Amino acid sequence: MPTLYLVPTPIGNLEEMTPRAIEILKSVDVIACEDTRNSLKLLQHFDIHTRFVQYHNFNEQESSKGLLQFLKQGKNIAIISDAGYPLISDPGQVIVNKAIGLGYNVVPLSGCNAMLNGLVASGLITQPFAFIGFLPANQKECVKTLNQYKGYPMTLIFYEAPHRIEKMLTSVLEVFGDRQVCVARELTKKHEEFIRGLCSEVIEEVKTAKGEMVVVIEGCSNDPKPAIDMGEIAKLVEEAIAGGLSKSDAIKSVAKLTGMSKNEIYNYIHQN
Ligand code: SAM
Repeated sequence: MPTLYLVPTPIGNLEEMTPRAIEILKSVDVIACEDTRNSLKLLQHFDIHTRFVQYHNFNEQESSKGLLQFLKQGKNIAIISDAGYPLISDPGQVIVNKAIGLGYNVVPLSGCNAMLNGLVASGLITQPFAFIGFLPANQKECVKTLNQYKGYPMTLIFYEAPHRIEKMLTSVLEVFGDRQVCVARELTKKHEEFIRGLCSEVIEEVKTAKGEMVVVIEGCSNDPKPAIDMGEIAKLVEEAIAGGLSKSDAIKSVAKLTGMSKNEIYNYIHQN
């Protein structure tokens, strides 16, 4: 029976390519890549000379048709993405579903994946967890999506780009309140780093951080105390100012009212 192999590739450190992954990539008839230029470097590095074709993220329906033809001809295929597992914030879902539907073997290999590395070293509860992936780039949509996950009790895992991390964590602080967060950066690479702490503290540290990032966030606490909505806090400060208090007195009064620290409120107001 023709087989579709799902082959993870290194997320930075090439030493993490497994012997089985190399063997499968050498033995299949075709390798379907996310980006042929990226994959060519990897394939050359491991002396793999198998025929490869591009598999498009934006048009998975169309490109999966070509791949199904290979399976119909009795050929074995491997799917790889630019890094980590195919299908995890990467293409592959459509062809996997079609191959299962048509009764072909679908065989996953074990290997590299950024979210699990981030999770297990985060220091946050590892089970249960929910992997969310990338939040929408549009700010309004991002806040809307975060609101959907606000009440989830499990640890949440996101992917994020370095140029958006500060904005993302600011939205997280606003929607979730000040939870424990771990930003896992440059995993498996020379400058691997874990920035752990309360969201408000981590925001300060990621301002200049570069490289690829996984964001792991504590789930909604069972503590009956609701997560603090920083937007609401800012509104209370505005109302107190409108009522005649100076800004610093308004912050003091809202801090007393909510039990939050003055600095936390001050920092939020000055960042927004
Ligand atoms: N398929 C990949 C996997 O299994 O993890 C994920 C691909 S997704 C397009 C790329 C995102 O994964 C990056 O923006 C980053 O959030 C995360 N990522 C990938 N490699 C990473 C690394 N070495 N360190 C931290 N995050 C990484």
